[in-house]
Amino acid sequence: MHRGRSVDKRLTLNVSLKIRFSFVMVTSVKLNTGAEMPVIGLGTWKSAPGKVAEAVKVAIAAGYRHIDGAFVYQNETEVGEGIQAMIKDGVVKREELFVVSKLWCTFHDKSLVKGACQKTLSDLKLDYLDLYLVHWPMGFKAGSELFPLDSEGLTISDDTNFLDTWEAMEELVDAGLVKAIGVSNFNREQIEAILNKPGLKYKPANNQIECHPYLNQEKLISYCQSKGITVTAYSPLGSPDRPWAKPEDPSLLDDPNIKAIAEKHKKTTAQVLICFQIQRNVIVIPKSVTPQRIQENFQVFDFELSDEDMKTILGFNRNFRVCPMHWGVKHRDYPFNAEY
Ligand code: NDP
Repeated sequence: MHRGRSVDKRLTLNVSLKIRFSFVMVTSVKLNTGAEMPVIGLGTWKSAPGKVAEAVKVAIAAGYRHIDGAFVYQNETEVGEGIQAMIKDGVVKREELFVVSKLWCTFHDKSLVKGACQKTLSDLKLDYLDLYLVHWPMGFKAGSELFPLDSEGLTISDDTNFLDTWEAMEELVDAGLVKAIGVSNFNREQIEAILNKPGLKYKPANNQIECHPYLNQEKLISYCQSKGITVTAYSPLGSPDRPWAKPEDPSLLDDPNIKAIAEKHKKTTAQVLICFQIQRNVIVIPKSVTPQRIQENFQVFDFELSDEDMKTILGFNRNFRVCPMHWGVKHRDYPFNAEY
């Protein structure tokens, strides 16, 4: 993995600011496939279809080269429009972008995986994805409902096993539809089950998990990184626009302790939350549809949190999840009953 910041320091001794910034702009983490994954991506969950194409364009113009999407966000057509417009205008080439999508829970049956991936590709108007993730370890009843619920409001499971789903994911790599495959919201035991699967062909390249100072995920990150699996932090700003937010929930962006660290560095709280992840070699995907914020969230390569700052921020952990997926709590593969 690249330690962008330490290289950055050495470079500043001899080279011009321009070269220093251009180096840092491409800062990425190496996957176990050999590909480089840019450390900052644009999140797109909750980004309204009418706004997300513009958000993608603003992000690419600001230097983002990584876009995080998913079928279940129901906006991949518009994400694709943003990407295609920037390619058409010559701002970026397809091969310079790192596009991520995710297999939704209702498509875990082996017979459905390829079609789900092809639907995403056709919506995005792309020939391949750079990374395709199993969105959750839980399989839901297949059909037109994205969240099939029983009379108690709990998700209805299917009878799939994520190890079988993984085999269908491996076939996508062999078919050239995706460059790398990974998982999301998998706990340690579930990752271990994949790694120990007889006949495993491709190890997961990435685990995308909720991660921010109130849920710092030290143990799961350390486990994944020890196995050569990179980690992406979702909801890095605490997801203030999540539909189930309650007024009494803690708010990272308003946390006075994080604000104090930001003021010390003359940066914003969001920038500190993003930098915190990059300095742990964790990829980070803040979502915004606001042009000024999209740009702000990328302006994080010109400062460094001290070891003391990092330690202080790690001390804010309170095991607070913004995405507990509580409808799935009784599912046999619900990931969050384990410690990590
Ligand atoms: P984030 O933590 O990224 O927070 C997004 C919210 O923060 C929006 O309300 C946005 O507002 C606001 N915001 C963004 N930048 C700033 C800023 N600089 N200052 C103040 N407010 C700001 O939440 P998400 O939950 O969206 O997580 C990020 C991405 O992670 C998702 O969009 C998705 O791509 C992925 N994800 C993956 C999941 C999974 O299961 N794998 C689950 C959840 C998320 P506005 O847009 O109005 O500017």
